[in-house]
Amino acid sequence: MTEALSSSAPVEADVAIVGAGIIGVACAVQLSRRGRRVVVIDRQPPGRGASFGNAGHLATEQVFPIADLSILKRLPAMLMDPLGPLRLDWNYLPRALPWFGRLLWSLRPASLQRTVAGLRALNESSLGAWQRLLRSIDQPGLLQEAGSVLVFERAESRQAIEALLGRLRQHAVAVDLWPAAALREAAPQLSDTLQGGLFFPLTGHFLDPYRVVLELVQVAKASGVQFIQQRVTGGHLQPQGVTLVADQARVAARQVLIACGAHSAELTAALTGKRVPLDTERGYHLMLPREHGRLPFAVTSLERKFIMTPMADGLRLAGTVEFAGLQRPANMQRAWQLHRLSQGLFREALSAEGATPWMGFRPSLPDSLPIIDQVCEGRVLLAFGHQHLGLTQAAITAELIAQAACPGAMPHSLPALDPYQLARF
Ligand SMILES: Cc1cc2nc3c(=O)[nH]c(=O)nc-3n(C[C@H](O)[C@H](O)[C@H](O)COP(=O)(O)OP(=O)(O)OC[C@H]3O[C@@H](n4cnc5c(N)ncnc54)[C@H](O)[C@@H]3O)c2cc1C
Repeated sequence: MTEALSSSAPVEADVAIVGAGIIGVACAVQLSRRGRRVVVIDRQPPGRGASFGNAGHLATEQVFPIADLSILKRLPAMLMDPLGPLRLDWNYLPRALPWFGRLLWSLRPASLQRTVAGLRALNESSLGAWQRLLRSIDQPGLLQEAGSVLVFERAESRQAIEALLGRLRQHAVAVDLWPAAALREAAPQLSDTLQGGLFFPLTGHFLDPYRVVLELVQVAKASGVQFIQQRVTGGHLQPQGVTLVADQARVAARQVLIACGAHSAELTAALTGKRVPLDTERGYHLMLPREHGRLPFAVTSLERKFIMTPMADGLRLAGTVEFAGLQRPANMQRAWQLHRLSQGLFREALSAEGATPWMGFRPSLPDSLPIIDQVCEGRVLLAFGHQHLGLTQAAITAELIAQAACPGAMPHSLPALDPYQLARF
Protein backbone atom coordinates (compact mmCIF):
# COMPACT_ATOMS: atom_id res chain seq x y z
CA MET A 1 0.00 0.00 0.00
CA THR A 2 2.83 2.39 0.81
CA GLU A 3 6.28 2.56 -0.68
CA ALA A 4 9.61 2.45 1.12
CA LEU A 5 12.41 4.61 -0.28
CA SER A 6 16.08 3.85 -0.45
CA SER A 7 17.40 6.49 -2.85
CA SER A 8 19.28 9.43 -1.32
CA ALA A 9 17.78 12.03 -3.69
CA PRO A 10 15.09 13.99 -1.87
CA VAL A 11 11.48 13.32 -2.72
CA GLU A 12 9.98 16.56 -4.00
CA ALA A 13 6.46 17.81 -3.46
CA ASP A 14 4.38 20.94 -3.16
CA VAL A 15 3.01 19.76 0.18
CA ALA A 16 4.49 17.05 2.40
CA ILE A 17 1.99 15.76 4.94
CA VAL A 18 3.39 14.03 8.01
CA GLY A 19 0.80 11.62 9.40
CA ALA A 20 -1.65 9.41 7.50
CA GLY A 21 -4.43 9.41 10.08
CA ILE A 22 -7.90 10.64 9.22
CA ILE A 23 -6.73 14.27 9.43
CA GLY A 24 -3.69 13.80 7.17
CA VAL A 25 -5.46 11.77 4.48
CA ALA A 26 -8.54 14.02 4.37
CA CYS A 27 -6.16 16.98 3.89
CA ALA A 28 -4.25 15.04 1.19
CA VAL A 29 -7.47 14.55 -0.80
CA GLN A 30 -8.43 18.24 -0.59
CA LEU A 31 -4.95 19.56 -1.36
CA SER A 32 -4.48 17.28 -4.36
CA ARG A 33 -7.89 18.37 -5.66
CA ARG A 34 -6.55 21.91 -5.66
CA GLY A 35 -3.72 20.87 -7.92
CA ARG A 36 -1.00 20.41 -5.28
CA ARG A 37 1.58 17.64 -5.67
CA VAL A 38 1.22 15.87 -2.32
CA VAL A 39 3.38 13.35 -0.48
CA VAL A 40 2.11 11.71 2.73
CA ILE A 41 4.70 10.25 5.10
CA ASP A 42 3.79 7.95 7.96
CA ARG A 43 5.88 5.51 9.94
CA GLN A 44 2.98 3.04 9.81
CA PRO A 45 0.56 2.08 7.07
CA PRO A 46 -2.22 4.71 6.81
CA GLY A 47 -4.90 4.79 9.49
CA ARG A 48 -3.15 2.72 12.15
CA GLY A 49 -3.06 5.48 14.79
CA ALA A 50 -6.04 6.84 16.76
CA SER A 51 -8.03 6.90 13.54
CA PHE A 52 -8.05 3.10 13.41
CA GLY A 53 -10.14 2.31 16.45
CA ASN A 54 -12.15 5.31 17.49
CA ALA A 55 -15.83 5.06 18.38
CA GLY A 56 -16.94 6.24 14.95
CA HIS A 57 -19.30 8.82 16.42
CA LEU A 58 -19.87 12.00 14.42
CA ALA A 59 -20.13 13.84 17.69
CA THR A 60 -21.30 17.29 16.62
CA GLU A 61 -23.12 17.71 19.93
CA GLN A 62 -19.88 17.80 21.93
CA VAL A 63 -19.34 21.53 22.25
CA PHE A 64 -18.02 21.60 25.81
CA PRO A 65 -14.38 21.17 26.92
CA ILE A 66 -12.94 17.74 27.64
CA ALA A 67 -13.17 18.34 31.41
CA ASP A 68 -14.72 20.68 33.92
CA LEU A 69 -13.79 21.73 37.44
CA SER A 70 -15.13 18.48 38.88
CA ILE A 71 -11.90 16.89 37.62
CA LEU A 72 -10.26 18.26 40.78
CA LYS A 73 -12.69 16.36 42.98
CA ARG A 74 -12.17 13.22 40.92
CA LEU A 75 -8.36 13.34 41.00
CA PRO A 76 -7.95 11.05 44.07
CA ALA A 77 -10.26 8.41 42.54
CA MET A 78 -8.37 8.71 39.24
CA LEU A 79 -5.19 7.85 41.01
CA MET A 80 -6.64 4.92 42.93
CA ASP A 81 -8.85 3.06 40.44
CA PRO A 82 -6.93 1.47 37.53
CA LEU A 83 -10.18 0.46 35.78
CA GLY A 84 -12.24 3.62 36.36
CA PRO A 85 -13.45 5.71 33.41
CA LEU A 86 -10.76 8.30 34.13
CA ARG A 87 -7.31 7.11 35.09
CA LEU A 88 -4.03 8.87 35.83
CA ASP A 89 -0.90 6.75 36.01
CA TRP A 90 1.00 7.64 39.21
CA ASN A 91 4.30 7.63 37.34
CA TYR A 92 2.94 10.03 34.77
CA LEU A 93 1.66 12.51 37.37
CA PRO A 94 4.71 14.87 37.24
CA ARG A 95 4.49 15.04 33.42
CA ALA A 96 0.72 15.53 33.48
CA LEU A 97 0.54 18.22 36.16
CA PRO A 98 1.48 21.23 33.98
CA TRP A 99 -1.07 20.10 31.39
CA PHE A 100 -3.74 19.80 34.09
CA GLY A 101 -2.76 23.26 35.30
CA ARG A 102 -3.33 24.67 31.82
CA LEU A 103 -6.59 22.78 31.52
CA LEU A 104 -7.87 24.36 34.73
CA TRP A 105 -6.66 27.79 33.59
CA SER A 106 -8.58 27.34 30.33
CA LEU A 107 -11.80 26.88 32.31
CA ARG A 108 -11.88 30.57 33.32
CA PRO A 109 -15.10 32.10 31.92
CA ALA A 110 -13.53 34.05 29.01
CA SER A 111 -11.37 31.19 27.90
CA LEU A 112 -14.19 28.67 28.33
CA GLN A 113 -16.35 30.84 26.11
CA ARG A 114 -13.62 30.81 23.44
CA THR A 115 -13.41 27.01 23.63
CA VAL A 116 -17.16 26.53 23.28
CA ALA A 117 -17.34 29.00 20.39
CA GLY A 118 -14.39 27.29 18.68
CA LEU A 119 -15.84 23.81 19.10
CA ARG A 120 -19.26 24.96 17.97
CA ALA A 121 -17.90 26.60 14.84
CA LEU A 122 -16.14 23.38 13.79
CA ASN A 123 -18.90 20.99 14.86
CA GLU A 124 -21.67 22.99 13.19
CA SER A 125 -19.78 22.65 9.89
CA SER A 126 -18.69 19.03 10.38
CA LEU A 127 -21.72 17.13 9.12
CA GLY A 128 -21.93 19.21 5.93
CA ALA A 129 -18.19 18.79 5.29
CA TRP A 130 -18.44 15.00 5.71
CA GLN A 131 -21.48 14.83 3.44
CA ARG A 132 -19.56 16.73 0.75
CA LEU A 133 -16.44 14.61 1.14
CA LEU A 134 -18.22 11.24 1.17
CA ARG A 135 -20.45 12.19 -1.77
CA SER A 136 -17.37 13.27 -3.72
CA ILE A 137 -15.82 9.81 -3.29
CA ASP A 138 -19.13 7.98 -3.93
CA GLN A 139 -19.25 6.58 -0.39
CA PRO A 140 -22.12 8.38 1.35
CA GLY A 141 -23.15 5.13 3.08
CA LEU A 142 -20.02 5.05 5.26
CA LEU A 143 -21.75 7.60 7.48
CA GLN A 144 -25.10 6.65 8.99
CA GLU A 145 -27.01 9.83 9.71
CA ALA A 146 -29.10 8.15 12.36
CA GLY A 147 -28.50 10.53 15.27
CA SER A 148 -27.22 9.29 18.62
CA VAL A 149 -28.47 9.09 22.21
CA LEU A 150 -27.07 9.85 25.64
CA VAL A 151 -29.02 7.54 27.98
CA PHE A 152 -29.43 7.66 31.74
CA GLU A 153 -30.57 4.95 34.12
CA ARG A 154 -30.75 6.45 37.60
CA ALA A 155 -33.74 8.55 38.57
CA GLU A 156 -31.39 10.97 40.31
CA SER A 157 -29.58 11.60 37.00
CA ARG A 158 -32.65 13.31 35.55
CA GLN A 159 -31.63 16.63 37.05
CA ALA A 160 -28.17 16.40 35.43
CA ILE A 161 -29.72 15.45 32.08
CA GLU A 162 -32.14 18.37 32.22
CA ALA A 163 -29.35 20.77 33.17
CA LEU A 164 -27.28 19.49 30.23
CA LEU A 165 -30.29 19.85 27.94
CA GLY A 166 -30.58 23.50 28.96
CA ARG A 167 -26.89 24.20 28.38
CA LEU A 168 -26.91 22.45 25.00
CA ARG A 169 -29.96 24.41 23.84
CA GLN A 170 -28.33 27.61 25.01
CA HIS A 171 -25.54 26.79 22.55
CA ALA A 172 -27.94 25.93 19.73
CA VAL A 173 -27.18 22.19 19.74
CA ALA A 174 -30.09 20.26 18.20
CA VAL A 175 -31.34 17.97 20.97
CA ASP A 176 -34.58 16.31 22.11
CA LEU A 177 -35.36 14.90 25.54
CA TRP A 178 -36.62 11.35 25.07
CA PRO A 179 -38.73 9.64 27.71
CA ALA A 180 -38.16 5.93 28.35
CA ALA A 181 -40.96 4.98 25.94
CA ALA A 182 -39.35 6.84 23.01
CA LEU A 183 -36.02 5.18 23.74
CA ARG A 184 -37.65 1.75 23.91
CA GLU A 185 -39.40 2.30 20.61
CA ALA A 186 -36.22 3.40 18.82
CA ALA A 187 -33.86 0.89 20.45
CA PRO A 188 -35.98 -2.05 21.68
CA GLN A 189 -32.99 -4.19 22.74
CA LEU A 190 -31.94 -1.72 25.43
CA SER A 191 -32.93 -2.55 29.00
CA ASP A 192 -36.26 -1.40 30.43
CA THR A 193 -34.39 0.07 33.36
CA LEU A 194 -33.19 3.00 31.24
CA GLN A 195 -35.07 6.18 32.12
CA GLY A 196 -34.70 7.97 28.79
CA GLY A 197 -32.06 10.15 27.23
CA LEU A 198 -31.03 13.03 25.04
CA PHE A 199 -31.38 12.41 21.31
CA PHE A 200 -29.08 14.36 18.98
CA PRO A 201 -30.55 14.35 15.47
CA LEU A 202 -27.61 16.06 13.72
CA THR A 203 -25.08 13.42 14.70
CA GLY A 204 -24.37 10.00 13.24
CA HIS A 205 -21.88 7.18 13.14
CA PHE A 206 -19.36 5.70 10.72
CA LEU A 207 -19.74 2.02 9.98
CA ASP A 208 -15.96 1.51 9.91
CA PRO A 209 -13.64 4.41 10.77
CA TYR A 210 -10.56 2.56 9.49
CA ARG A 211 -12.22 1.91 6.15
CA VAL A 212 -12.98 5.63 5.85
CA VAL A 213 -9.22 6.28 5.98
CA LEU A 214 -8.53 3.53 3.45
CA GLU A 215 -11.17 4.81 1.01
CA LEU A 216 -9.67 8.29 1.20
CA VAL A 217 -6.19 6.84 0.63
CA GLN A 218 -7.43 5.13 -2.55
CA VAL A 219 -8.93 8.36 -3.83
CA ALA A 220 -5.78 10.29 -2.94
CA LYS A 221 -3.57 7.76 -4.72
CA ALA A 222 -5.80 7.87 -7.78
CA SER A 223 -5.25 11.62 -7.95
CA GLY A 224 -1.47 11.22 -7.72
CA VAL A 225 -0.74 11.49 -3.99
CA GLN A 226 2.37 9.51 -3.05
CA PHE A 227 2.43 7.57 0.24
CA ILE A 228 5.78 6.84 1.89
CA GLN A 229 6.19 4.61 4.92
CA GLN A 230 8.98 6.27 6.92
CA ARG A 231 9.36 7.82 10.36
CA VAL A 232 10.05 11.55 10.19
CA THR A 233 12.84 12.37 12.63
CA GLY A 234 13.24 16.09 12.05
CA GLY A 235 12.98 18.97 9.67
CA HIS A 236 14.41 22.36 8.69
CA LEU A 237 12.93 25.49 7.24
CA GLN A 238 14.49 26.53 3.93
CA PRO A 239 14.13 29.92 2.21
CA GLN A 240 11.67 28.44 -0.29
CA GLY A 241 10.11 25.66 1.76
CA VAL A 242 10.89 22.87 4.18
CA THR A 243 13.16 19.82 4.23
CA LEU A 244 12.02 16.81 6.21
CA VAL A 245 14.39 14.15 7.42
CA ALA A 246 12.99 10.64 7.63
CA ASP A 247 14.60 7.30 8.58
CA GLN A 248 15.81 6.57 5.08
CA ALA A 249 14.72 9.52 2.99
CA ARG A 250 14.61 13.28 2.73
CA VAL A 251 11.60 15.19 1.47
CA ALA A 252 11.83 18.71 0.03
CA ALA A 253 8.51 20.54 -0.17
CA ARG A 254 7.23 24.07 -0.51
CA GLN A 255 4.96 23.41 2.47
CA VAL A 256 4.73 20.80 5.18
CA LEU A 257 1.54 19.83 7.03
CA ILE A 258 2.06 18.42 10.52
CA ALA A 259 -0.79 15.96 11.14
CA CYS A 260 0.85 13.40 13.44
CA GLY A 261 -1.97 13.38 15.99
CA ALA A 262 -0.66 12.96 19.55
CA HIS A 263 2.92 12.80 18.22
CA SER A 264 2.91 16.28 16.65
CA ALA A 265 4.72 18.31 19.33
CA GLU A 266 8.30 17.41 18.42
CA LEU A 267 8.15 18.28 14.74
CA THR A 268 6.18 21.43 15.53
CA ALA A 269 8.98 22.53 17.88
CA ALA A 270 11.67 21.66 15.32
CA LEU A 271 10.03 23.71 12.57
CA THR A 272 8.34 26.57 14.41
CA GLY A 273 10.37 26.82 17.62
CA LYS A 274 7.12 26.60 19.58
CA ARG A 275 6.54 23.98 22.33
CA VAL A 276 2.86 23.11 22.29
CA PRO A 277 1.29 21.59 25.42
CA LEU A 278 0.05 18.54 23.55
CA ASP A 279 -0.62 15.41 25.59
CA THR A 280 -2.55 12.26 25.02
CA GLU A 281 -5.77 11.02 26.55
CA ARG A 282 -5.44 7.33 25.88
CA GLY A 283 -8.69 5.58 25.04
CA TYR A 284 -9.75 1.97 24.56
CA HIS A 285 -12.22 -0.04 22.59
CA LEU A 286 -13.54 -3.57 22.68
CA MET A 287 -14.92 -4.82 19.38
CA LEU A 288 -17.69 -7.43 19.70
CA PRO A 289 -17.85 -9.27 16.35
CA ARG A 290 -20.91 -11.36 17.24
CA GLU A 291 -23.10 -8.39 18.06
CA HIS A 292 -24.99 -7.12 15.04
CA GLY A 293 -28.34 -5.35 14.95
CA ARG A 294 -28.45 -4.44 18.65
CA LEU A 295 -28.61 -0.68 18.17
CA PRO A 296 -29.78 1.62 15.38
CA PHE A 297 -27.43 4.43 16.46
CA ALA A 298 -24.55 5.14 18.82
CA VAL A 299 -25.57 5.08 22.49
CA THR A 300 -23.56 6.71 25.29
CA SER A 301 -24.24 6.00 28.94
CA LEU A 302 -24.26 9.07 31.17
CA GLU A 303 -23.45 7.14 34.33
CA ARG A 304 -21.12 4.47 32.94
CA LYS A 305 -19.28 6.91 30.69
CA PHE A 306 -18.70 4.90 27.55
CA ILE A 307 -20.18 4.61 24.08
CA MET A 308 -21.54 1.69 22.05
CA THR A 309 -21.53 2.10 18.28
CA PRO A 310 -23.06 -0.32 15.76
CA MET A 311 -20.49 -0.97 13.05
CA ALA A 312 -20.08 -3.15 9.97
CA ASP A 313 -17.98 -5.68 11.93
CA GLY A 314 -20.05 -5.77 15.12
CA LEU A 315 -20.70 -3.55 18.10
CA ARG A 316 -17.84 -1.34 19.29
CA LEU A 317 -17.69 -0.43 22.98
CA ALA A 318 -15.34 2.50 23.42
CA GLY A 319 -14.26 5.26 25.72
CA THR A 320 -12.35 5.80 28.96
CA VAL A 321 -9.60 8.34 29.43
CA GLU A 322 -6.17 7.36 30.67
CA PHE A 323 -3.30 9.77 31.30
CA ALA A 324 -0.17 7.67 30.94
CA GLY A 325 1.70 9.24 28.03
CA LEU A 326 2.82 7.85 24.70
CA GLN A 327 5.35 5.29 25.92
CA ARG A 328 3.66 3.07 28.52
CA PRO A 329 2.15 -0.16 27.23
CA ALA A 330 -1.61 -0.42 26.98
CA ASN A 331 -3.55 -1.86 29.92
CA MET A 332 -6.01 -3.97 27.94
CA GLN A 333 -7.95 -4.77 31.10
CA ARG A 334 -9.41 -1.32 30.56
CA ALA A 335 -10.80 -2.46 27.21
CA TRP A 336 -12.28 -5.66 28.71
CA GLN A 337 -13.79 -3.54 31.47
CA LEU A 338 -16.01 -1.98 28.79
CA HIS A 339 -17.79 -5.32 28.39
CA ARG A 340 -18.45 -5.49 32.13
CA LEU A 341 -19.77 -1.92 31.95
CA SER A 342 -22.28 -2.92 29.27
CA GLN A 343 -23.91 -5.45 31.59
CA GLY A 344 -27.39 -4.32 32.52
CA LEU A 345 -27.79 -1.94 29.61
CA PHE A 346 -29.46 -4.54 27.33
CA ARG A 347 -32.33 -6.94 27.84
CA GLU A 348 -29.89 -9.73 26.93
CA ALA A 349 -26.19 -9.49 27.79
CA LEU A 350 -23.73 -8.78 24.99
CA SER A 351 -21.52 -11.62 23.83
CA ALA A 352 -17.78 -11.02 24.12
CA GLU A 353 -16.91 -14.11 22.08
CA GLY A 354 -14.08 -13.32 19.66
CA ALA A 355 -13.84 -9.76 21.04
CA THR A 356 -10.69 -7.75 20.32
CA PRO A 357 -9.28 -5.00 22.56
CA TRP A 358 -7.49 -1.87 21.32
CA MET A 359 -5.88 1.28 22.68
CA GLY A 360 -5.26 4.58 20.88
CA PHE A 361 -3.80 8.02 21.60
CA ARG A 362 -6.23 10.94 21.49
CA PRO A 363 -4.26 14.10 20.71
CA SER A 364 -5.36 16.64 23.32
CA LEU A 365 -4.51 20.25 24.02
CA PRO A 366 -5.53 21.68 27.39
CA ASP A 367 -8.03 24.17 25.95
CA SER A 368 -9.83 21.36 24.06
CA LEU A 369 -9.36 23.08 20.69
CA PRO A 370 -7.22 21.73 17.85
CA ILE A 371 -4.44 23.68 16.17
CA ILE A 372 -5.40 24.41 12.56
CA ASP A 373 -3.05 27.05 11.24
CA GLN A 374 -0.47 28.19 8.75
CA VAL A 375 2.77 29.68 10.11
CA CYS A 376 6.39 30.41 9.12
CA GLU A 377 5.38 32.54 6.11
CA GLY A 378 3.04 29.82 4.92
CA ARG A 379 5.66 27.08 4.89
CA VAL A 380 4.26 25.16 7.85
CA LEU A 381 0.64 24.04 8.08
CA LEU A 382 -0.66 22.50 11.31
CA ALA A 383 -3.67 20.23 11.87
CA PHE A 384 -3.57 18.29 15.12
CA GLY A 385 -4.93 18.19 18.67
CA HIS A 386 -8.51 17.22 17.81
CA GLN A 387 -8.87 15.25 21.10
CA HIS A 388 -12.13 13.22 21.19
CA LEU A 389 -13.36 14.82 17.98
CA GLY A 390 -10.77 14.11 15.28
CA LEU A 391 -13.06 11.95 13.19
CA THR A 392 -15.94 14.40 13.57
CA GLN A 393 -13.81 17.37 12.56
CA ALA A 394 -11.54 15.78 9.93
CA ALA A 395 -13.51 16.78 6.83
CA ILE A 396 -13.95 20.41 7.90
CA THR A 397 -10.31 20.58 9.00
CA ALA A 398 -9.26 19.41 5.53
CA GLU A 399 -11.37 22.12 3.89
CA LEU A 400 -9.81 24.73 6.20
CA ILE A 401 -6.26 23.55 5.50
CA ALA A 402 -6.85 23.43 1.73
CA GLN A 403 -8.31 26.93 1.83
CA ALA A 404 -5.39 28.24 3.91
CA ALA A 405 -2.79 26.63 1.64
CA CYS A 406 -4.51 27.47 -1.66
CA PRO A 407 -6.97 30.32 -1.15
CA GLY A 408 -9.79 30.47 -3.66
CA ALA A 409 -13.51 30.97 -3.94
CA MET A 410 -15.52 28.50 -1.84
CA PRO A 411 -19.12 27.54 -2.62
CA HIS A 412 -19.90 27.58 1.12
CA SER A 413 -18.62 29.54 4.12
CA LEU A 414 -15.93 28.19 6.42
CA PRO A 415 -15.25 28.87 10.11
CA ALA A 416 -12.57 31.51 10.76
CA LEU A 417 -9.19 30.10 11.77
CA ASP A 418 -8.58 32.51 14.69
CA PRO A 419 -9.61 30.20 17.57
CA TYR A 420 -7.28 27.42 16.36
CA GLN A 421 -4.05 29.39 15.97
CA LEU A 422 -0.70 28.14 17.24
CA ALA A 423 0.00 31.61 18.67
CA ARG A 424 -2.51 31.08 21.50
CA PHE A 425 0.17 29.02 23.29
C1 LIG B 1 -11.05 5.18 22.12
C2 LIG B 1 -11.20 6.39 21.22
C3 LIG B 1 -12.47 6.73 20.78
C4 LIG B 1 -12.64 7.84 19.95
N1 LIG B 1 -13.88 8.11 19.47
C5 LIG B 1 -14.07 9.16 18.62
C6 LIG B 1 -15.35 9.41 18.06
O1 LIG B 1 -16.29 8.66 18.29
N2 LIG B 1 -15.49 10.49 17.25
C7 LIG B 1 -14.45 11.32 16.95
O2 LIG B 1 -14.65 12.30 16.24
N3 LIG B 1 -13.21 11.09 17.45
C8 LIG B 1 -13.00 10.02 18.27
N4 LIG B 1 -11.75 9.77 18.79
C9 LIG B 1 -10.66 10.70 18.49
C10 LIG B 1 -10.08 10.47 17.12
O3 LIG B 1 -9.83 9.08 16.91
C11 LIG B 1 -8.77 11.26 16.96
O4 LIG B 1 -8.98 12.61 17.32
C12 LIG B 1 -8.30 11.22 15.52
O5 LIG B 1 -8.19 9.88 15.08
C13 LIG B 1 -6.96 11.91 15.37
O6 LIG B 1 -6.58 11.76 14.02
P1 LIG B 1 -5.14 12.17 13.56
O7 LIG B 1 -5.07 11.93 12.10
O8 LIG B 1 -4.83 13.53 14.09
O9 LIG B 1 -4.17 11.18 14.38
P2 LIG B 1 -3.80 9.66 14.17
O10 LIG B 1 -4.92 8.89 13.61
O11 LIG B 1 -3.21 9.18 15.44
O12 LIG B 1 -2.68 9.71 13.04
C14 LIG B 1 -1.41 10.26 13.29
C15 LIG B 1 -0.44 9.52 12.40
O13 LIG B 1 0.85 10.15 12.52
C16 LIG B 1 1.82 9.13 12.41
N5 LIG B 1 3.08 9.64 12.99
C17 LIG B 1 3.28 10.05 14.26
N6 LIG B 1 4.56 10.44 14.40
C18 LIG B 1 5.17 10.26 13.20
C19 LIG B 1 6.49 10.47 12.71
N7 LIG B 1 7.45 10.97 13.49
N8 LIG B 1 6.76 10.17 11.42
C20 LIG B 1 5.80 9.68 10.59
N9 LIG B 1 4.53 9.45 11.02
C21 LIG B 1 4.22 9.75 12.29
C22 LIG B 1 1.23 7.96 13.18
O14 LIG B 1 1.82 6.74 12.77
C23 LIG B 1 -0.25 8.06 12.81
O15 LIG B 1 -0.60 7.24 11.72
C24 LIG B 1 -11.53 8.65 19.61
C25 LIG B 1 -10.25 8.28 20.03
C26 LIG B 1 -10.08 7.15 20.82
C27 LIG B 1 -8.70 6.77 21.24
